[in-house]
Amino acid sequence: MDVKEKVSKAKARLLLNQPFYGTLLLSTDLSEDDKIPSACTNGVSIRYNPKWFDTLTPEQVQGVLQHEILHIVFLHCDRLKRKDAKLWNVATDYAINLLINYNLLPKEVLRDSQWEGKAAEEIYDKLPKDVNVVNISVPGPCGGSGKSGQGKGLNGKVIDELQPMPGGDETRAEIESKVIVAYEATKDKGDLPAGLTRYFEELRKSRVKWSSIFMLLYGHVPANIL
Ligand SMILES: [Zn+2]
Repeated sequence: MDVKEKVSKAKARLLLNQPFYGTLLLSTDLSEDDKIPSACTNGVSIRYNPKWFDTLTPEQVQGVLQHEILHIVFLHCDRLKRKDAKLWNVATDYAINLLINYNLLPKEVLRDSQWEGKAAEEIYDKLPKDVNVVNISVPGPCGGSGKSGQGKGLNGKVIDELQPMPGGDETRAEIESKVIVAYEATKDKGDLPAGLTRYFEELRKSRVKWSSIFMLLYGHVPANIL
């Protein structure tokens, strides 16, 4: 099965079985990039190295796409701010991998039940600061850093690269709106982990408060926060 076919099948399976992810994927720019070691998101779009996807099973492609969508959903690229990017990458991977079916992810990913239900900031604060972070990368002489094994204090590798989110508050508002719309449209279909459902309910409440403020001030709510 070629890579494009794997990606199409993963999207179709997500739309059918996990429509929240499928819906968000449909409205997210997804493109190939053979200059990155594995996958990458800037919180708005997703890129992947087709050579890496070629080494994954169709189920793992689905799991990796869920992983990228969760980075977007939790605004991890926006929350990076002045943190150490490598450590934040580790913390966010630990936070979201527990929300994805283990069988769908590549075996070497970061996963540790001690971080269950913890926000990425809390994991970030508690991680040793001197970990040697290793990224998953395309196998072979042309790909990756050539490092093997895992860093001190870690039990796996980082799936991808996080880049700062472009566009500031406006982009953040657009993503939050997109997430709430996808959640509302699909919450009765497919199973979402309790941790995710709680997050969406909190996000929805905070957006509702913003709507009330706009109504009070201007008598209408701008389209981009609905
Ligand atoms: Zn990641």
